[in-house]
Amino acid sequence: MIDLPDRIQHYIGGQSVDSIDGSTFDVLDPVTNQTYLTAAAGKQADIDAAVSAAQKAFTEGPWPRMLPRERSRILHRIADLVESRDQRLAELESYDSGLPITQALGQARRAAENFRFFADLVVAQRDDTYKVPGRQINYVNRKPIGVAGLITPWNTPFMLESWKLGPALATGNTVVLKPAEFTPLSASLWSGIFAEAGLPEGVFNLVNGLGEQAGDALVKHADVPLISFTGESSTGQLIFANAAPHLKGLSMELGGKSPAIVFADADLEAAINATIFGVFSLNGERCTAGSRILVERPIYDEFVERYAAQAKRVIVGHPNDPKTEVGALVHPEHFDKVMSYIEIGKSEGRLVAGGGRPDGFETGNFVAPTVFADVPSDARIFQEEIFGPVVAITPFDTEAEALELANGVKYGLAAYVWTNDLKRSHNFAQAIEAGMVWLNSNNVRDLRTPFGGVKASGLGHEGGYRSIDFYTDQQAVHINLGEVHNPVFGKPAGTDQQGS
Ligand code: NAD
Repeated sequence: MIDLPDRIQHYIGGQSVDSIDGSTFDVLDPVTNQTYLTAAAGKQADIDAAVSAAQKAFTEGPWPRMLPRERSRILHRIADLVESRDQRLAELESYDSGLPITQALGQARRAAENFRFFADLVVAQRDDTYKVPGRQINYVNRKPIGVAGLITPWNTPFMLESWKLGPALATGNTVVLKPAEFTPLSASLWSGIFAEAGLPEGVFNLVNGLGEQAGDALVKHADVPLISFTGESSTGQLIFANAAPHLKGLSMELGGKSPAIVFADADLEAAINATIFGVFSLNGERCTAGSRILVERPIYDEFVERYAAQAKRVIVGHPNDPKTEVGALVHPEHFDKVMSYIEIGKSEGRLVAGGGRPDGFETGNFVAPTVFADVPSDARIFQEEIFGPVVAITPFDTEAEALELANGVKYGLAAYVWTNDLKRSHNFAQAIEAGMVWLNSNNVRDLRTPFGGVKASGLGHEGGYRSIDFYTDQQAVHINLGEVHNPVFGKPAGTDQQGS
């Protein structure tokens, strides 16, 4: 039995606190769907308190004024602490979210790497200076913006929080984090880690709570100039509208329905292994999941047969079992949503694997890896994000048709192309409407590259220096080195007219 808290508080100005009005919400574990803890439910007043603590730390505290190297040292200590607690983190994450323990461990390590990466980047940061010979030197004064509002989803929660916390803190901002209400457990570890690493009080603040209450209050807060949001596209649209009156800086990492395109010349074994992992890892609750597989006709039947056979062998099990490959979906509401898509799929495509609960799992949010073949492009399971272990396979005859199918959805997050034809791979990749493309590879991230989607999958990019740009203002400072170049208005009568 793992050691679990029975309640979770907010963390504001260096103190763990309950909600001002005492409200809480229940958190369920996805295996039994029983409430195992209550978390403080933040509202407007709690957000006000957290923003005020963050603002004080920004205007009066040392953090924004520290040398990048000093901040970087603290961020590296955070990474060390996360690494040293990776087993505990994985255990809590797996318990709370239903992610398989081995995959939760990988995500904990990636969280440490996110801090390390931005700790290094901010020290290596350089800014531009422009010389106009004999006349001007103009330079960029980069500065932190203020209180960053960070709103995160329940899939790989700790890792996704680190993806925002790392750059927001590295650049000298202070933050208010609003984690997802389905999975607040791992986020409760941040305060201890940050305090131990030496992060000054008030720099990091956390308010738990429902999206429509705590999240909404953060988005609408006049003293929060930045919102970095990851979640559903429809929530992103609402946040965009709510932030508009304040003209906030917004970074939106939204939903996806990413295609994997397998041409007949591809390494079939590698393509099958990667596309299985691409949609069934992290329980299929993955924004970049390759949830539509487009397969060239000559290999279509063989692909479907082998894919279905392999999907049936994927091990569904208790999240805490190291052998488990697919665990339990995060919450009964989400389970119901995924199951309803499986029912829809049964009339839209040909079910070749899964299709409901796996044998032996009569309770809990377990779903058998589910594969539909012959799915037409107007099917709902082709068009809509399911966010579970469900995949649609569709045949194509020509490259043009493959491209039309790949681009024929509202999303544009990721794409995976499998072919050994060099020219085709590049030309095809470049024509896909997706923020990120992998050629003959699964989703292997390089933290320096842009991360983000196009169309309904997002707005703006993070990753590498783009994250630094999002969390900073770049002020242009102009210095005159020569004569003052200025047309003189209002000269005394009789003197020469100056040029303009
Ligand atoms: P969600 O949109 O329901 O919630 C995300 C967060 O927003 C939660 O913290 C929630 O409380 C908060 N929220 C909800 N309503 C709000 C409001 N009105 N104002 C402010 N905050 C509000 O998303 P989810 O179900 O938690 O996460 C799954 C979604 O996230 C999927 O669509 C997935 O594709 C997407 N996602 C995208 C990426 C990416 O990088 N593009 C990464 C992970 C997940």
